[in-house]
Amino acid sequence: MYDYDLLVVGSANADLVTVVERRPAAGETVLGGDLAVHPGGKGANQAVAAARLGARTALLARVGDDGHGRLLLDSLHAAGVDTVGVLVGGAPTGVALITVDPSGDNSIVVSPGANARLTPGDVRAAVSLFLASRVVSAQLEIPLETVVEVVRHLADGSRFVLNPSPPRALPTEVLAACDPLVVNEHEARVLLGEACVSEEPADWARLLLAKGPRSVVVTLGAEGALVCDSSGVTRVPSVRVDAVDTTGAGDAFTAALARELGSGASLAEAAAYAARVGAAAVTRRGAQESYPTAAEAEALGG
Ligand code: ATP
Repeated sequence: MYDYDLLVVGSANADLVTVVERRPAAGETVLGGDLAVHPGGKGANQAVAAARLGARTALLARVGDDGHGRLLLDSLHAAGVDTVGVLVGGAPTGVALITVDPSGDNSIVVSPGANARLTPGDVRAAVSLFLASRVVSAQLEIPLETVVEVVRHLADGSRFVLNPSPPRALPTEVLAACDPLVVNEHEARVLLGEACVSEEPADWARLLLAKGPRSVVVTLGAEGALVCDSSGVTRVPSVRVDAVDTTGAGDAFTAALARELGSGASLAEAAAYAARVGAAAVTRRGAQESYPTAAEAEALGG
């Protein structure tokens, strides 16, 4: 019996957003609109998305002893995430400085702050969380050696889901633990590097599977997703919606996928559910603010 359906190990950031007429060139200062501060970071996003869907969710992360850290903790508590694994202090909370122009193009500077101080030792100290979790998910906004330590602490019978974002080369040990590796188009291209000779997402999925994960999911935005394991590639259709803001759709998808896999769904079934949750998330603005409850995802049909 597990205490948690999902343990997310990852980042927590404050997203500081300003709308500008024009993004500044080097050496230039421009005036922007009022600053908006949103809770974000891929780890916190996935934990909030899973908890909103009703999963018993814990987060292992690090925030600073500052106002941004408190904003993140408030948001996690409001969604029902267990924050016993959220460590406080050591560096300022991670921040994403985002300027958006009227066409929607943005420039982003990320200061990882406390996320860069989530260490392998922090993973070892949280061994009881790993033993209590049916599914563990991670992303790459924390140090890679911390993710390596995560796969060494998975409980027997638990399942590991990795979204390698931002993408970088992965050790064999991490790849071999992924079931699945969840990538979008950009991440697939970076991980495959020169091996990415085809424009066919199904080929990317097969090539990525050959690198060692037990299964692969490729998300394709409004086109839905592909799932791939030793039995082949299956297309998961998207749910047609009026997209308002796609920010954080990938995190909602991965969280929903992890939750469904934990309830015993097949990879294709879990991805179909995740596509519904991802579609629901793009119908509302923001990341964490846009995540649906299970009832809202159900109501979308598909
Ligand atoms: P982001 O970086 O914006 O969080 P991503 O690039 O990691 O997202 P996407 O492939 O864009 O991930 O989206 C994840 C999933 O969400 C898709 O596989 C799809 O199921 C759903 N989705 C995203 N955009 C749309 C859309 N416009 N209409 C319907 N479903 C969508």
